[in-house]
Amino acid sequence: MSPVAHFIGSWLVASVATKTSRDRKLITLAGVIPDVDGFGLVVDVAKGIFSGEPTTYHYYQKFHHVLGHGWPAALVLCGLLAGFATQRFRVFGFCLLTFHLHLFCDLLGSRGPSPGDLWPICYGEPLFRHPVWFWKGQWRLDGWQNLTIFGVIFVGALWQAVRQGKSFVEVFSRKVDEAFVCVLRKWGHALGFSRVNPG
Ligand SMILES: [Zn+2]
Repeated sequence: MSPVAHFIGSWLVASVATKTSRDRKLITLAGVIPDVDGFGLVVDVAKGIFSGEPTTYHYYQKFHHVLGHGWPAALVLCGLLAGFATQRFRVFGFCLLTFHLHLFCDLLGSRGPSPGDLWPICYGEPLFRHPVWFWKGQWRLDGWQNLTIFGVIFVGALWQAVRQGKSFVEVFSRKVDEAFVCVLRKWGHALGFSRVNPG
């Protein structure tokens, strides 16, 4: 699934998990952080540009879904994030939840263009080679299933934003988030949602 879908889905979980802005950000971050192991893509593209040779995606394929998509990374990264939280144990638990939700969504829908281009979850990496999970029915990263799930998550996140007065934009800027939620509430009011406060 795309990083944007992971981000908004994780914020949605965080929005019901805690009332603290800082803790929501940490739980959201835990749901996106596994894809940091895709840094090899930047190296590959840069290498292609500077060498003038075709881009090989060598480092991307070597490290992506290996370094950050297993239980060792889950324990270390979620532990680190929880260290910054106001409710550490609660946030640690929810960070593990959004982290593993990310892995589950990748298992479902992160296939490449061809049917055999399955992308497994190497859950023991980088410490152990096993277990390795894959699903034969895995759908394409850009498949309609991912788009549908993204649509549902996005609408759910907007609805939650209108209800709570906070949206996923808060992860970047509280001020921009206030303006965003204000617009959403006005639209909600204009559409006739009686419980929506336009203020
Ligand atoms: Zn991922």
